Amino acid sequence: MDRIIKSEKNIDNSNVFYTIAMRGLVAFPKMIMHFDVARDKSVKAVEKAIDEGGKIFLVTQHETYVDNPKASDLYKVGVVAEIRQVLRLPDNIVKILVEGVYKANLVHLYDEGDVLRAEVKKTVSYSRAKYDSVEAEALMRSVKDVFERYASFFPKMPKELIASVMTQESPIKLFETVTFNCNLNYRDKQTLLEESNIISKLSVLFACLSSEVEILELENLINEQTKNSIDKGQKEYYLREQMRVIQEQLGEDESEEAYSYINDIMSLKIDEKSREKLLMEADRLLKLPPASQEAFVIKNYLDTVLELPWGKYTKSKITLEKAEAILEKDHYGLKKVKERILEYLAVHILNPEIKGQIICLAGPPGIGKTSIAKSVAKAMGRSYARVSLGGVRDEADIRGHRKTYVGAMPGRIITAVQQAETSNPLILLDEIDKLCSDIKGDPSSAMLEVLDSEQNDSFRDHFIEVPFDLSKAVFITTANDISAVPAPLLDRMEVIELPSYTAEEKFHIAKNHLIPKQLKEHGLKASQLRITDDAVRDIIQFYTKEAGVRGLERYIASLCRKSAKMIASGDKKRITVKPDDLHALLGLKKYLPDIASRKNQVGVVNGLAWTSVGGVLMPMEVIILKGTGKIEITGSLGDVMKESAKIAVSYVRSIAEQYNIDPEFYKNSDIHIHAPEGAVPKDGPSAGVTMTTALVSALSDIPVKCDVAMTGEITLHGKVLPIGGLREKSMAAFKSDMNTVLIPAANLPDLEDVDPVVKEKIRFIAVETLSDVLENALDKPTG
Ligand code: ADP
Repeated sequence: MDRIIKSEKNIDNSNVFYTIAMRGLVAFPKMIMHFDVARDKSVKAVEKAIDEGGKIFLVTQHETYVDNPKASDLYKVGVVAEIRQVLRLPDNIVKILVEGVYKANLVHLYDEGDVLRAEVKKTVSYSRAKYDSVEAEALMRSVKDVFERYASFFPKMPKELIASVMTQESPIKLFETVTFNCNLNYRDKQTLLEESNIISKLSVLFACLSSEVEILELENLINEQTKNSIDKGQKEYYLREQMRVIQEQLGEDESEEAYSYINDIMSLKIDEKSREKLLMEADRLLKLPPASQEAFVIKNYLDTVLELPWGKYTKSKITLEKAEAILEKDHYGLKKVKERILEYLAVHILNPEIKGQIICLAGPPGIGKTSIAKSVAKAMGRSYARVSLGGVRDEADIRGHRKTYVGAMPGRIITAVQQAETSNPLILLDEIDKLCSDIKGDPSSAMLEVLDSEQNDSFRDHFIEVPFDLSKAVFITTANDISAVPAPLLDRMEVIELPSYTAEEKFHIAKNHLIPKQLKEHGLKASQLRITDDAVRDIIQFYTKEAGVRGLERYIASLCRKSAKMIASGDKKRITVKPDDLHALLGLKKYLPDIASRKNQVGVVNGLAWTSVGGVLMPMEVIILKGTGKIEITGSLGDVMKESAKIAVSYVRSIAEQYNIDPEFYKNSDIHIHAPEGAVPKDGPSAGVTMTTALVSALSDIPVKCDVAMTGEITLHGKVLPIGGLREKSMAAFKSDMNTVLIPAANLPDLEDVDPVVKEKIRFIAVETLSDVLENALDKPTG
């Protein structure tokens, strides 16, 4: 028999309550709590307690596993509480809401078979003993501190609760608020309940809370470590599983597509952040109706991103011999250019990781810039892609449009990577000098980012959104006119100038490269079509006027086409194209030789000009008419000439006496200067010497030698300044059968670049002043 159980008749009913033995829970006076009641004895106790006014005794079991507790299984202190609410749930479970009323000692427990009752004795919650207020204050502070740390583990804890604890001044209220709201061990809570001295209560509370915080901290640390140690593979596995579950739950067939995207994303060689972003998109796809516009946009986006060659690199060992052989095989001449390219490749061989080396191939169209770049790609074993920048005025052309735009696409750079199918291609940025900037944004700044080795390892395309590593790509740019390349871009590039070809070079290029190439393209054998050397030279001279060989190649292609037709139709078996056949096959001659002055004339001088299609011989004419000192300039030179004309007039005035020129000529005559129309020269001022010579000749009536050509800029004092394009200009003089070319003395070193054939035939005279020029050019009567 239980030692506290007494006989029925001794029960003092006012202190006897139906009783719930609680497992793992401790009630406190004034504390409102709710819990589930499951055991039959306890449910009965609730029912009976309600019948008897709603008070119930709550006492905690020592051990939670005891099902049918006896008195010895229960703590001796519990709480009489008021039942506030009862909620019946299925399976005979009852949820009750109670409020503790007073603390009571268990005096006797009556086990009535189907219910427990207890006789209890009310006791004080807090003893009235005086306590040291300083000690209380210190303890309160400690409790508050440790509570603050405790609260930091529960981000959802109401701010008001934390504030009320932190500002609490009453030790009892502090104790209650903290105890009621912290999740402490039930044994600790029981101790707190049993203790009635507030100082002891607070210090026990402090100790319990401190150890709880320690446990929480440790728990957190373990969690963190475990989280980190879940390796990438596991993470991927979880993500996959998650997606699969989502897919299953949605039960949509279309989700298979999204799932296959997820699989593809998982196997991409991409950084984790980008992968997450892509998975997010695939996740969105799962949730969207498959036929919706948005789903279409996402699919298009994922298709594009997945198609990019993430982490795909071509590997190839470059050797200088191989590179040299490739360059030599693909291109005739271009000695200096090949040397520079080989130097560039040598650096790459020594340091494959080198960054930021960007070559800019500069020169007129058709001189082989693109084809050199292709050969470099071949030599380096890289895939090749070309980006045409001509007329790009919008940043979005480079960087793409956001995917939500109608018809959005990636920009040209990413498109090139897509075409190249590797992440380390050679990308040719063609015509970088034709980038324009206007209100739609500045594409050159986007270009800067592409070329900047510090930034291009995470190039951002607006469409692709996730960064793409361009740092392994090799960039080569081309430009027709270096001066038009935005300075910050030019700064990053090493310029290699490709000079225009001489007729002789064009001839060799045609023979060795263009003709074989075109024959092959048109399916012809060398034995079926022969173009004689003279015919090739005539095409160069009479049908093309260009620095490069594009036009020449077009004409050769045209000959091939026509021949292929004749051979295919059976008209002829083999064809030989001679100069006389050109008229019938290619039409009328397009260009006649430069209209050089062929006899010594007054006021006509053979000038040399440098144009975008190479050098030209440009005769300049001056006539003097009676008038009032007006200067008229017509022809192709326009405004640039006005200043040179003024300088020339002033200079001629200063030497008028020497050449028997009327010193008043600038007042009583009009001067008309004319340069024939034609290609616009790049360097207007270099016609300075030509004009002055023509002027002196016209005013002094002394003829000019017709076999002398000249070029040079002048100063007011008659000094001759250096010019550009000497190589091209001298070639033009050569073609026009000049014997002598007057060049500025400062240009002497440039003679090194001049074709040997030209140097052999032409006498170059270096001049320092205009009097040197006049000395050599004017056909002064001897004696
Ligand atoms: P660019 O890029 O400078 O405008 P391309 O590279 O397109 O010129 O050249 C035009 C054509 O001329 C191409 O078919 C190219 O192969 C050919 N070509 C140009 N220069 C040479 C050369 N030095 N040797 C062989 N072929 C050449």
